[in-house]
Amino acid sequence: DFEVCIKVIIVGNGAVGKSSMIQRYCKGFFTKNYKKTIGVDFLEKEIEIEEDLFRLMLWDTAGQEEYDAITKSYYRGAQACIIVFSTVDSDSFEAVPIWNQKVIDEVGHVNTVLVLNKMDLIRGALVTELDADNLAKKMNMKLFKTSVKNNENVNDIFTYLAQSHMQF
Ligand code: GDP
Ligand code: MG
Repeated sequence: DFEVCIKVIIVGNGAVGKSSMIQRYCKGFFTKNYKKTIGVDFLEKEIEIEEDLFRLMLWDTAGQEEYDAITKSYYRGAQACIIVFSTVDSDSFEAVPIWNQKVIDEVGHVNTVLVLNKMDLIRGALVTELDADNLAKKMNMKLFKTSVKNNENVNDIFTYLAQSHMQF
């Protein structure tokens, strides 16, 4: 049996929940006091979808969220990208196209999805679902609405990226 390896980079402004998302997906837990970095370049997760095996390598930005602070090695060889923003941070929403351009500049067009995280805080939030829907439509990208805290829709992102990898 052969296995498809996919390097996935997770970008977006600081504090939107990127590290928490990787940790939640790979290790299965959530913590409120998550450290700024996870101390390693990436975490791995193996998944099987209809008898196809995928190994996802999920790269964390180690807290260097300025566009130019992230090193080339972070982007190098990326085959998929998750751009995360949060319901409670309008700057993170405004920054989505900038992150997308940064990724294109570094690795060209890769399979990219948008994630609106912290849906548990959506009531009275700065970024509405409609804002996010419109942005996704404009950018022609699939949008996931997650709460890493409550483990809502997190797995779907990664299943989708694996499934769409072959077609991309
Ligand atoms: P990063 O800088 O993008 O890696 O963000 P972190 O993963 O470090 O998360 C920043 C803060 O947001 C931490 O205190 C997390 O516990 C919190 N957080 C992450 N995801 C969620 C979520 O879905 N809901 C809520 N309420 N808080 C979250
Ligand atoms: Mg982080």
